[in-house]
Amino acid sequence: MRSLRPWLVCLALVAAALPARAQDHLKVVASFSILGDFVRNVGGDRVEVTTLVGPDGDVHVYTPAPADARKIADAKLVIINGLGLEGWLPRLLQSSGSKAPIVTATKGVTPLKFGSDADPHAWQSVANAKTYVVNIRDALGAVAPTDSEVFRVNAESYLAKLDALDREVREAVAQIPPAHRKVISTHDAFGYLAAAYGVEFVAPLGVSTESEASARAIAAIITQIKSSKVSAVFLENISDDRLIRRIAAESGARVGGTLYSDGLTSEKGAAPTYIDMVRHNIKALTSALAN
Ligand code: ZN
Repeated sequence: MRSLRPWLVCLALVAAALPARAQDHLKVVASFSILGDFVRNVGGDRVEVTTLVGPDGDVHVYTPAPADARKIADAKLVIINGLGLEGWLPRLLQSSGSKAPIVTATKGVTPLKFGSDADPHAWQSVANAKTYVVNIRDALGAVAPTDSEVFRVNAESYLAKLDALDREVREAVAQIPPAHRKVISTHDAFGYLAAAYGVEFVAPLGVSTESEASARAIAAIITQIKSSKVSAVFLENISDDRLIRRIAAESGARVGGTLYSDGLTSEKGAAPTYIDMVRHNIKALTSALAN
């Protein structure tokens, strides 16, 4: 028995070293890609961020995989959007057996109404994105207090970038003649952008990315575009774009390109970060609507 002792000491040393290294990277799960980007910006090299719904994924209709339960079970913190966005999440959290705190990044955001529900797409206003960042900063600091100063400094610098981004969006919208600030888009994801910056979005499909528009609904949309003088129709990275192309062809409105609503793209795409996404969208809007 005594001969086992050195091995036990060795194992104890290894075991002591492992958590120390794991502490350097606080494991955080974010429900979808945009939240993951916020967590990366605030957490920097102190966090290891995993997203459940990755780039170009549809967070409304996600089907969790067994690996997702393991990611949550390993995490020290789970960040979600809330406002009813992640309907698939409660069951996943339960099956993971996780005891990690679940933090709602939209806490403190004034929700817009979506019929009788809240509109979950609050990140489409940069002012709201700042609320997300503050909530994420506080959540990270609560779980890893020794790094809270790092999170504070990172958040400060990212919040300054978001302030600059917000100004950029306002200046860009100011270039669009007021009568042209009207577009149609495949799912109603831009209510907060519309409210914050004064661009009107007309949605043909409502909030569900699952629903199919009927022939009668499409005819009604085309009439609507013509009568309300919608200047451009937009595509999204998560919806079937054939419908929008058909509406554009039949109504004479311009196809304004792709707007990114609910997910970032991969590194090589047009919107690998939140700031890239907002810049891309606002550029697509101004170039379609400015003249
Ligand atoms: Zn959406």
